[in-house]
Amino acid sequence: MADVFTGSFTQQEPIPDDAIEAALTVLRHGRLHRYNTAPGEIAEVAQLEEEFAAEVGANYALAVASGGYALGCALRAVGVQAGQTVLTNGFTLAPVPGAIASLGAVPVFVEVTEDLVIDLDDLAAKIAATGAKVLMLSHMRGHICDMDRLMALCDAAGVTVIEDCAHTMGAAWNGVPSGRHGLVGCYSTQTYKHMNSGEGGFLVTDDADLMARAIVLSGSYMLYARHRAAPGPEAFEALKWVTPNVSGRMDNLRAAILRPQLRRLRAQCEAWNARYRVIEDGLRDTPGLRLIVRPAAESYVASSFQFVLPDWAPEAVQDVVARCAARGVELKWFGAAEPVAFTSRYDSWRYAPAQHLPKTDRVLAGLLDMRLPLTFSLEDCALIARIIRAEVSSVFQSRPSAA
Ligand SMILES: *Cc1c(COP(=O)(O)O)cnc(C)c1O
Repeated sequence: MADVFTGSFTQQEPIPDDAIEAALTVLRHGRLHRYNTAPGEIAEVAQLEEEFAAEVGANYALAVASGGYALGCALRAVGVQAGQTVLTNGFTLAPVPGAIASLGAVPVFVEVTEDLVIDLDDLAAKIAATGAKVLMLSHMRGHICDMDRLMALCDAAGVTVIEDCAHTMGAAWNGVPSGRHGLVGCYSTQTYKHMNSGEGGFLVTDDADLMARAIVLSGSYMLYARHRAAPGPEAFEALKWVTPNVSGRMDNLRAAILRPQLRRLRAQCEAWNARYRVIEDGLRDTPGLRLIVRPAAESYVASSFQFVLPDWAPEAVQDVVARCAARGVELKWFGAAEPVAFTSRYDSWRYAPAQHLPKTDRVLAGLLDMRLPLTFSLEDCALIARIIRAEVSSVFQSRPSAA
């Protein structure tokens, strides 16, 4: 009998005991709203923001209700208007084009390369063709493009970069943390990301005016002076009258469970990468299977794993997915005709103008993806790799052109 994997690809680790204790303290005093503090008390959210800003080396940080909220808030804070074009990756997750559409702005998609990062030549062409002034760059599935080249390109064209770091919290390019290359970095603390508060997110920047705007937007009323990872009151003077309140604050309960997780973030990132390397080694040189090339400048956090079956017939890819599923390995295929579960293909977002991205289509047609929750052991990962390797090899050998 062939080995079967019995773990769950959606089961994250439990919330650590010290985080549960911190949550109970907040529940017992009842001051869950970030601006509800006892005399002399510093809210959990304000402390978390300081700690997160320090972790990524940013002047300012704001904790918010979700990663998607952080993206929308960043777009509003940089002054994007309805009808304006915002460029983003052709391969990303639905909250990214959704954040753009939430302002009435227009998402225009940029091709991705076979290594799953934004195609810088297509980016240059689309900046020239559309005159876009904002790029929402998605480090989708943790893959980071050449950020030095990207920033040089965008700086030269006067394009503001907002980084979607939902999958790169803890990662870096050339030693600079992901989220610290563009004007604003946005992160998610949703259950499937690198810290888990159910829902949640962050925005970071060094720009005082932008952060003041984001804080008022997030629903600070006139209590912005309670923020610590924030500019002084003078930064709010003029804009507090003209910046709308679009409530999306984080609460003290979520902040309480995130602070202990932030202290462990680096160790968690190492644990993800150890699992990734076991699978990568296990799949190396599998005939018909292409691994994603990770550049030396990229310090990634591999909380998921991708590989490509390049130019395979759809039926053959489907066959691999079905055979792996029968052995307990859940692969998500981005080439399926109908979007399933989390949508990540630009043609599923029909509120955006229709676009044709042949290069992206070709990559997604063979792209398979799986999560790597830390509840998997290294042995689990080795087994998963053996199963994928066996099933890919047997489908590949039986393909019509192999005869
Ligand atoms: C999860 C995710 C987000 C933000 O999602 P929320 O669920 O709103 O926190 C943004 N971008 C990508 C690529 C994501 O995977």
